[in-house]
Amino acid sequence: MQLISLAIIGACIGSFINVVAWRFPRKESLIWPGSHCPCCGSDVRWYDNLPVVAWLQLGGRCRDCKASIPVRYPAVEALCAGLWVSAALAAPTSMGLVPSWFNLWAGAALVSVLLPLVLIDLEHMRLPEPFCRLGLLLGISATVAAALLLGWQQGSTLLLNHLLAAAFALLALELFATFWQVIIRIINWTARCQIKPLKGLGTGDAKLAAMGGAWLGLKGIAMALAIANVSGALFGVISFASGRLKWRQPFPFGPFIAIGIWGVWLCGPDWWWYQWQILIRNLMGL
Ligand SMILES: [Zn+2]
Repeated sequence: MQLISLAIIGACIGSFINVVAWRFPRKESLIWPGSHCPCCGSDVRWYDNLPVVAWLQLGGRCRDCKASIPVRYPAVEALCAGLWVSAALAAPTSMGLVPSWFNLWAGAALVSVLLPLVLIDLEHMRLPEPFCRLGLLLGISATVAAALLLGWQQGSTLLLNHLLAAAFALLALELFATFWQVIIRIINWTARCQIKPLKGLGTGDAKLAAMGGAWLGLKGIAMALAIANVSGALFGVISFASGRLKWRQPFPFGPFIAIGIWGVWLCGPDWWWYQWQILIRNLMGL
C-alpha cells in the first residue's frame, strides 16, 4: 500500500519535473500559464494531466488537435515513480543509523532534484546552478537533521564528514578540469600545435559533485565519482566504437555523476566496493 502511494506521488512529482526541465532552461515561468498544448495552444484539462494514464488513454495525442505528445513525458513520470519506490526499498547508509522514514523522505528529495538536472543536462549540455545549489542546501539540511536525530557525538562527526565531502568533491573536479586544460596548453606550447581544450568536463559537474558530497559523505562521494568515471568511460568507448559519437564530440557527464550518487545512496559505498573487488578478482582469474 505504501509503495503504491509512493509510486503515485512520484509520478505526480515526475509530471512537475517534466514542466521544470522544459521551461527552466527556456526561462519560462514554472507556474503560469498552466499546461497547454504547444501545437494548438489549448489548455490541458485536469483529467488529461494525470501522469502516465492520461497519455495512454489519449494514445499519445492532444485531445484537440491530435498533435503527438512525446513519449518522454509519460516515461519521465514512470521513471520518477520507480525512483520513489526504489527510495523506499533501499537501505541507505549515508546518513548513519537514522530511522527508515527519514531515509525514505531524504532519498525522495534527493532523487527529485537529481532527475531535472539529468534531463536538462541531456538536452542542453549544462547543469543549471540554482538546481545544484538547491541540492547542496537540501543535502546539508538533511545531514543537519540526521545529526540532530543521532545525537551530538555521532551527529557532529557525520556533519563534519559531509561538509568536507562537499568541499573536496568541488575542489577535486575543478582541479581535474584545470589539470587537463594546463596539460593541453603545455602540449600546444611545446609541440606548437593547436589542440582545442576539452569541453566535456564543465564546472557544473563540479557543483553536482559537491551536492553529492553533502548527501553521501567522503567515502560515498568517492565511490559515486568512481562509478561515474567507469560508466562514463564505458559509454564513451562504446558510443565511439559504434559510431554514435564522433571523435572528441563532448557528451554530458552529469547523468553519470547522478547515477553514481543514486547508486551509492541506495546500496551504500561498501556494497559497491565489494562488487568492485569481485569484478577485479574475476578479471584477474581470467
Ligand atoms: Zn493540441
